[in-house]
Amino acid sequence: MSYHHLTADDIKILRSYIADPARVITEPTAHWDHDQFKTVRAMPDLVIQPATNDEVVKVVKYASDHLIPLVPRGNSTGLMGANLTIHGGISLDMVKLNRILSYDPGSLTLTVQAGARLKDIEDYLADKPFTYMPAPAMHWATIGGNVATNAGGLKAIKYGVTREHIRSLKVALTDGKLYTFGSKAVKSSSGYALKDLIIGSEGTLGVVCEVALRLYPRPRHIINAVIPFDTLKHAIQSVPAILASGVEPTTVEFMGRKVLNLWEKFYNQKFPITEGDGFIILGLDAFTPGELTAMLETAVAATKAFNAFDPVVLDAASHEAKVIWDAREALLLAIQKSTPQMDEVDVSVPINHIPDVLQRIDELEQETGMRIPNFGHAGDGNLHIYLCSDQLSATAFAQKRDLVIRELYKTAAAVDGNMSGEHGIGYARKDYFEGYYGKAYTSLLRRIKQLFDPNGVLNPDKIFPLHE
Ligand SMILES: Cc1cc2nc3c(=O)[nH]c(=O)nc-3n(C[C@H](O)[C@H](O)[C@H](O)COP(=O)(O)OP(=O)(O)OC[C@H]3O[C@@H](n4cnc5c(N)ncnc54)[C@H](O)[C@@H]3O)c2cc1C
Repeated sequence: MSYHHLTADDIKILRSYIADPARVITEPTAHWDHDQFKTVRAMPDLVIQPATNDEVVKVVKYASDHLIPLVPRGNSTGLMGANLTIHGGISLDMVKLNRILSYDPGSLTLTVQAGARLKDIEDYLADKPFTYMPAPAMHWATIGGNVATNAGGLKAIKYGVTREHIRSLKVALTDGKLYTFGSKAVKSSSGYALKDLIIGSEGTLGVVCEVALRLYPRPRHIINAVIPFDTLKHAIQSVPAILASGVEPTTVEFMGRKVLNLWEKFYNQKFPITEGDGFIILGLDAFTPGELTAMLETAVAATKAFNAFDPVVLDAASHEAKVIWDAREALLLAIQKSTPQMDEVDVSVPINHIPDVLQRIDELEQETGMRIPNFGHAGDGNLHIYLCSDQLSATAFAQKRDLVIRELYKTAAAVDGNMSGEHGIGYARKDYFEGYYGKAYTSLLRRIKQLFDPNGVLNPDKIFPLHE
């Protein structure tokens, strides 16, 4: 596909759409050429920071009409190179479209602009009786980025992922119209669910401008417990038993001593629990303290068959709880600090198959000599697996990385899993997509893409190559 290269005339017209000239950046700096992982790098020709829906609509229409590639960008905390302008063109940086628009406790919704960050939303709701429940570990991500990747997080097992918490979206499409998909009503049996098609589409179908979020009554009582096990394997094996006990936890995370050692080293901290090699962090919430106690006792009893030590029960407001959650949320960054370059596979598998993936990781470490630390969401089967370059040359790392990625996808596919549970496919994994999901399925997606974006300008070649 050949695209139009931006000219001075294009920039003049695009600038006329944007109220403040400072929000049209003709000489982008390195700030715009990478995301968190830097595995894909590309410098946009132009950055536009819209501050109104109307500005978004006009820019998207102009880009489509003039065959100029356009890639929306949130706060660039993504890991799959998804917000990069690999074909040049416009980076539509959404961070200035960031207002909280309306708080509506009557309908249990909060409406925000797409560039609002999770942290802004948490701060806004802090003194209110309602909360936005999904809990991705990266609080600086924008809600638009979360919608685009269908971000998961620590509470998916009980409350679901971003998708379950979006009532409606306002989306700018390439035809120059702003559409509302979904509504504040809870239910709909009213035709195609286009809102759900947009969620997780990584900006390839339209640009999200506004989001009506579903709110939950803030849970009255919360408790966390860390359960140490003699081995990580036993920790993981206990999870189906915890869930079968009838307890519905908000969170079940797993991590091993090896990754915690990296966090201790690079954050100069001490993990407060010294016994055990594998850990489950169990989060519970309830209406009364009595319910919490009963749930905790039942869950802990279920772990005893798996060589669990006594749990360390944490008051949610305690310093110890803060240290443990800080450790969990910083694991990714700690691993990143331990190696010059890294990449990630975030397959999601049925929970009883997590041990299969962990076993394959052990084998691949032996076979390739590559360090592959990991941790993840034991309750929902989403693993975060890191491929570390360490001493390898760039070429050797690229070869081994490709081999490990393919092997892990093979393992996930064999147990009916998905390529990505929450971080997306982006540009970093687009070449593996068709192999994983098949030609017929990818062709169907291409036809949907064609309908929304006939000129192929929105994030061209992201998720899967535009053309067979
Ligand atoms: C330490 C750390 C922890 C993390 N923890 C989690 C976690 O627990 N769960 C999880 O899911 N992710 C996690 N992530 C990954 C990342 O935070 C998410 O992928 C997040 O959704 C990206 O949002 P962003 O605003 O940074 O978007 P970006 O990285 O800028 O972009 C991500 C994608 O969204 C698209 N996009 C952005 N805004 C819009 C818009 N308005 N309309 C259409 N498309 C848009 C971009 O084109 C791109 O495809 C973590 C990352 C880090 C660094």
